[in-house]
This record gives sequence, C-alpha cells and structure tokens, in this order.
Amino acid sequence: MQTLHGTVLQPRSATECMIHENAWVRIDDCGRIHEVVPAGAGTGATVGDASCWILPGFIDAHCHVPQWERRGIDGLTLFDWHERIVYPAEARFEDPDFAERKAEAFATGVIGFGTTTVAAFGCPFPESADRVFSVFARRGLRAVFGMMLNDVNCPAPLCQQTNAALDQARELGAKWHGAENGRLHYAFCPRMPVCCSEAMMRGAAALARMLGCYVQTHLAESPAEVMAVREAFPERLDGVDVLAEMGLLTDRTLFGHGVFLSRAQRQQVAEAGTTIVHCPTANLFLESGLMDYVAHRSAGIRMALGSGVGGGPNPFMPQVAVDFLQTAKGLKVYAMPRRTHDVPTPAEAWWLLTRGAAAALHMDDRIGSVESGLEADLLVVRPEPWIAELPPDQRISALLYTLRPQQIEHVFIAGRRVGP
Ligand SMILES: [Zn+2]
Repeated sequence: MQTLHGTVLQPRSATECMIHENAWVRIDDCGRIHEVVPAGAGTGATVGDASCWILPGFIDAHCHVPQWERRGIDGLTLFDWHERIVYPAEARFEDPDFAERKAEAFATGVIGFGTTTVAAFGCPFPESADRVFSVFARRGLRAVFGMMLNDVNCPAPLCQQTNAALDQARELGAKWHGAENGRLHYAFCPRMPVCCSEAMMRGAAALARMLGCYVQTHLAESPAEVMAVREAFPERLDGVDVLAEMGLLTDRTLFGHGVFLSRAQRQQVAEAGTTIVHCPTANLFLESGLMDYVAHRSAGIRMALGSGVGGGPNPFMPQVAVDFLQTAKGLKVYAMPRRTHDVPTPAEAWWLLTRGAAAALHMDDRIGSVESGLEADLLVVRPEPWIAELPPDQRISALLYTLRPQQIEHVFIAGRRVGP
C-alpha cells in the first residue's frame, strides 16, 4: 500500500471541478486507488505533503511519436510541414533500433510532462511500431498506438502495399490490443483520406471492428486539406462523408483536429459517437485555423485535447488546455457580431485533460479521476504556494495557468511510479 498526501483535484464534469484539501490517497498493491480519505484522517504519508496537489494524470489524445524530436520548427503550413518535417522524421524510423531509442525519449518526455495516457501515431514500418509498443510496455505508459497507414500520395519510402500493410497492422493489433493488463491499445491509423486508397480505409475499418480496436485519423485540419479531400473524392459530399462511407466514422474513432466542420457535419460526427481531438496549439502553430469548440460541444460531439506534437510545439497538456481557452476567447472577441455565449471555463479544461478525455477514449471506468476503484494514474505536484490562499474556483484557474512541468514531483501509472 502506498499513501499520497495533498490537495486532491477532482474534475467531475465539464462544469464541476472539486477540491479536497489535505486529503490522503491510498494505492493498493494492484495499482488501484484503494480509498481517498478526507482532511486530517491519514498518517504516514510516503509521498507528498499538505502543500502538494494530487491530480489525475494528463491525457494527450493526439500526438506523433516520430515527431517528438521535431517540435517547434516554425514557418510552415500543414502540407509543407508534412513534406519537410513529418515524412523525413517518419522515414528515419525504418530502422527498428533507432525507433526504439526514439520511443524511449518520447516516453521519458511525455511522462516528465505529466502525461500518463497518450493516443499516438507511429511510423509506417511494422517492426518499428512493434518496438515502440515494447518500450511503452516496459516504461509503464498507458497508450493507444498504431502503425501509420498510407498507400497513395506519400513519398516512396513510406508508401505501403495495401494488403501487406493491413496484414501487418492486424498482427500488431492482435499482439498488443489489451496487452499489459489492458494498459496498451491498438489503433488502426489511416493517416488521412488523401493518403489512403479506398481499399486501405475500408480494410482498416473492417479490421478495427473485428478486433475491437481504435481508429485514429486526421480530418478538416486546414483549408488546403479540406480542398484536397474534395478533389480526391469528388463523388462524396465532404471529408466526414468519406470517413462515414469507408466505415471509419465510429464510436471508437479519434478524429484529429476537425477545425472546419459545418453544422450538418457536426451533427453527423455527434450521432456516430466519434471523438474529435481538439489540438489548439497545433492549429495555431501551423496557422491551420481556430476550431469552434463551443459549437462542437453544443452539437453533442465527444471531445478530448491533443498536443498535436510535433505540429504542436508544446507537449505540456495544461498549456495545451490554456491554448484551448485562449482560442475560444479569440473566436469570441473577434467574432462579428461579438458573441454572447460564454467561453469554456478552467474547470472544463481540467475535465478535458482528465476525466472527459478518459470518457471520450472509453477509459473512464479505469482512469481519469482520483476515485477509489480506479487505476492510480496520478501526479503529485507542488505549485506556487500563494495558490492555496485563493477561493476554490480561483485556485482551479490559477493552477491551470501557472502549473509548470518542473513542479511535477511524482508520476504514477497504474500505481507504479514511472517518473519524472
Ligand atoms: Zn496529427
């Protein structure tokens, strides 16, 4: 049994974030939260003290392992970013030993930033994807991960033979989906519709359904990408229609970006139960666009947040959440006429970083909250002490805006201390 001591942050819903001061969290030997004991009742803390906070681990629902060491290269828009940065970065992963070393750096990096669950894309090489999974297994990271799939409109070294790639992805899915006591999950990852044949997309959808795996893809990320999808699929209404026709618009699909969606498309995505992973930092960095989160949520779409690394330069999820709030404020203040609806609150940001993302990933029965019975994916952080002087709603806000990676003292995933 391990015991943590501190102020517990408990995001309950998009509108409610609780704080329990001076609480004790006991983790059992199976890595589950045994109990959360309120003020003053505990003794013998092994980790933390009254000035620490205990947070659910952060969930980054969209990032790219090969781009971890390509963050912050400014001056490119989406398709130039693909050509100049993404494809060369993925080509280097053809060497499995190289891929393994870089996966180690990725795991060390994200854990150090307090991210306990990632939904991440890999490279289009099966042995390297397998090695990345081995690293995640060894390091204790919780992950949805998969080999990148693309068989048209991509450079020769990355372009796969359709059936061979689907076979390889199926083998990886059979090996890794549900591995490590359910901590690892496989995602079929058609890069984006313009890089995949119909056979690749339909095949990925069928295999994901058969194995109960996730699907990850990109759509409606930039105006140029929206146009390219229209040109590639002239017989379909739009990109959402393409995904729906290919069988990829499902409740196990994580759909990256989704900046440019009409009212009808939002409705279609909401009805399918598909998650849109909002990547505000990447959308700004690549000048792709400002996603209207409020409109998406109002349509009933399941939402999560992603760093978009390396298209997003910052992997620290609280700062991604700040960009989420700032994007909504930017849309509000520059709208003509000026909007009357509220921007999301810091409480909603915390929920999206933790429990809300866990729900979008169908993992809220296991993670996302500091609650007895759940697996202990927890952070112990030591924020600036003045935050403790504030009333609760101001504390929730100030913690989000001022927390720094250097203030993370311990990271636990399934009860195991994995960093920093
Ligand atoms: Zn991406």
